Amino acid sequence: MKNELHILQLYPRDMNIYGDWGNVLTVMRRAEWHGFTPVLHEYNPGDAFPEYIDIVIGGGGQDAGQDVIQTDLLKISPKLHELANSDTPMLLICGLYQLFGRFFKTKDGHEIKGIGIFDLETHGGPERMIGNIVTSSDEFGEIIGYENHSGQTFLGESAISLGKVIKGAGNNGQDEYEGARYRHVIGSYLHGSLLPKNPVMADWLIEKAAIKKFGEFTPQQIDDRLALAARKVALSRPR
Ligand code: GLN
Repeated sequence: MKNELHILQLYPRDMNIYGDWGNVLTVMRRAEWHGFTPVLHEYNPGDAFPEYIDIVIGGGGQDAGQDVIQTDLLKISPKLHELANSDTPMLLICGLYQLFGRFFKTKDGHEIKGIGIFDLETHGGPERMIGNIVTSSDEFGEIIGYENHSGQTFLGESAISLGKVIKGAGNNGQDEYEGARYRHVIGSYLHGSLLPKNPVMADWLIEKAAIKKFGEFTPQQIDDRLALAARKVALSRPR
C-alpha cells in the first residue's frame, strides 16, 4: 500500500519494560491519525531482519536482558548503522540506548558490547537512579518521563545530548545531560512510556519517516487534550 509506514520494534521479548511498549502504540496510532497505514514488525533474536523499515523503536531491559540480545544486536549492527546513516528515525530507550553506545560495563565488571551508533559509554553505578524526570531540549521543548537505571552514561567528544536535566538524574546524575542524538536517532533514559506524554517527539519520528519515504509530510490536527493533561499531572509529581 502506498502510504504504509513500517515500524520495527527491536527485541520486544527482552527489551521492553516500564511501559516502553506504549511508544510503539503511540507511533502506530498517531501515524494513522496523520493518514498513514502503520505496519508493525517485531524483531527478536534470530528473526529475519525485515527488508524495509521506516522507523525503529527499542526499549529498556534488565542487565540480563541486555546480555541475551547482545550477540544478535552485534550481528544486525551493520543494518542498523546503514539505517541510521540514511536518516531513518529511531527511538531507543534505556537498555537499548546504552547498547547503541560503545559498551555497558555492569557493576560486576563484565562488559556488554554496544554497536557504537552513539559516541558514548555506560558504567554500572553504585546506586539506581529512579524517579520522575523532566528535561529541556531545543527541538522538543520539555521532555517528561520516568527513569530507572544504574548505568551511568557519559557522552564522548562527538556525541550530542538530547536534553538538559531540569529534575532528575539523566545520563549519569553528574553532568546534567540526558540522552543523545545522532542524525535522526534519539536515545533516552525516559520510560513512562515516553511518547504518550511527549507527542511532539512521536510526530517528529513520523515526520522524518514520511519525508524520507514520500518526500513530504502534512500533519493533521490531532486532539491532544489528554496528552497535555497527562503532561501537567506528570510535571506536578514529586521526584
Ligand atoms: N540494565 C540497565 C541499567 O540498570 C538498563 C535499565 C533499563 O533499561 N531501565 O542501567
